Amino acid sequence: MTGPVLETRELGIAFGGLKAVDKVSVSAERNRITTVIGPNGAGKSTLFNLISGALKPKSGQLLIDGVDMTGASPSRTKAAGLSRSFQITNLFFELTVAENLRMAAQVLEPKARAFLPLARSTRALAKTDEMLERFQLGHKRDELAGNLSHGDQRRLEIAVCLASEPKILLLDEPTQGMSHADTADTAKLVRELSRDVSVLLIEHDIGLVMDLSDHVVVMHQGRKLAEGPPAMVRADPAVQAAYFGH
Ligand code: ADP
Ligand code: MG
Repeated sequence: MTGPVLETRELGIAFGGLKAVDKVSVSAERNRITTVIGPNGAGKSTLFNLISGALKPKSGQLLIDGVDMTGASPSRTKAAGLSRSFQITNLFFELTVAENLRMAAQVLEPKARAFLPLARSTRALAKTDEMLERFQLGHKRDELAGNLSHGDQRRLEIAVCLASEPKILLLDEPTQGMSHADTADTAKLVRELSRDVSVLLIEHDIGLVMDLSDHVVVMHQGRKLAEGPPAMVRADPAVQAAYFGH
């Protein structure tokens, strides 16, 4: 496939009188990291909700891999290859690390995927082992997700997202609440992930944004204020005024 893996065309939604996302056009290139930045309330998470199908747009279009997915439900966008990680963790705390992964990987099974006994889900089991190794969680496979450190939970969360082999990964502030060390680890991980999957990231840590992103989109008051390579965006006077506050 050529062309962007994800594209929004003048996508919009309003809550009452508030234009939370106002005619926003963004496109994400294959196996690149596209980062959305902007002050609190800029509309970043709402944009992700429109992309995932959690919210229906009032106007505009959404294309996944060139296919019109405007107004599609979350299960349809998921089937089209979209995976989302929430600001609030979406792990099952009362299940083990391996069980969380196996559940996510279950969609890889060809038939009766929800009903196949876990022990016979060979693709899901293989994927679980692959993820445990890749994310260095093998020694914690039988620990309850709820008992992991914050950093390990975030790593598991990303692994859970990848276990279903998505095309596009939406990450909404994955480093929020993390220590410096865990933030650096996550950055490394996201960079590594982008080899297999196209990443659309919302991130607050501007150092990380500059370091990680191939393309940066700046939102402000529901609108797209600027976009481009990280260094260019950072030097943009309009961005400096709105976002960096000088
Ligand atoms: P960001 O993620 O950039 O901080 P959000 O997308 O969460 O911003 O919010 C954008 C604006 O839309 C904010 O003013 C927020 O209060 C408002 N908003 C978000 N979701 C809803 C909702 N479900 N109902 C009403 N207003 C909302
Ligand atoms: Mg947000």
